[in-house]
Amino acid sequence: MNSSTVCRVCGRTFSKRGGIRHLSAESIRDFKRLGIEAEDMCMSCAMDKVKELSLEREERLGDLKAELRECEKNVLTEIQVMTTPHPESWMPGVKGVVSGYAVVGVGALTGLANMFTDIFGGESEEYLQKIRNAERHAVNVAKMQALSLGANIISGMRLEVKSGNTGTILVSCVGTAVEHGSVNVPGFERVRETAKEYAELRRRRMPIVAGSSESYAELSPSAGSYEVPAHL
Ligand SMILES: [Zn+2]
Repeated sequence: MNSSTVCRVCGRTFSKRGGIRHLSAESIRDFKRLGIEAEDMCMSCAMDKVKELSLEREERLGDLKAELRECEKNVLTEIQVMTTPHPESWMPGVKGVVSGYAVVGVGALTGLANMFTDIFGGESEEYLQKIRNAERHAVNVAKMQALSLGANIISGMRLEVKSGNTGTILVSCVGTAVEHGSVNVPGFERVRETAKEYAELRRRRMPIVAGSSESYAELSPSAGSYEVPAHL
């Protein structure tokens, strides 16, 4: 390990004292995790590589997010929601209970009493809009759950709006996920895969570029060497 005399990227000669240095074994391991050989790469080239990787990641995350939004929109419309219970004959298709929640901040106006005076006073378009959005969000969460159970209908859906702690409103919904007729949601697998890739990519840690085990430990966030100042 570290036997090469020149950096394979920039071609400069490695030297012990300052200048062009090898990476520490820990850093090399970090790169390896991402499928990159960094044994004969100098520190400044490794630094450039990290910048490149970060940029690539940001771009990919952006694309995935846009894709997710698009396919979610297409897929979620495939699920039918009804407030009435399903007919007895659908029983074999029952997949289970699904639910969804959303919490919205509504600012200084608190409590349902205030909200209603406000609504009937004709002053609260914005208020109502926020609750509608929260409702949609809660139902979408339940829909995703139903999809993952292989259902295409949510029956007996109940929505509840409650005022929470100061300035928040909690919207919750619950219903029964039922598979009825032909379930045809080809886009769902893709949503699932895209969401998985997005989550994994967001968690992925970039390699730490260090010339020695000591500085690697210092730069490593898990080492506890970096502490958030108390005032934050
Ligand atoms: Zn180099």
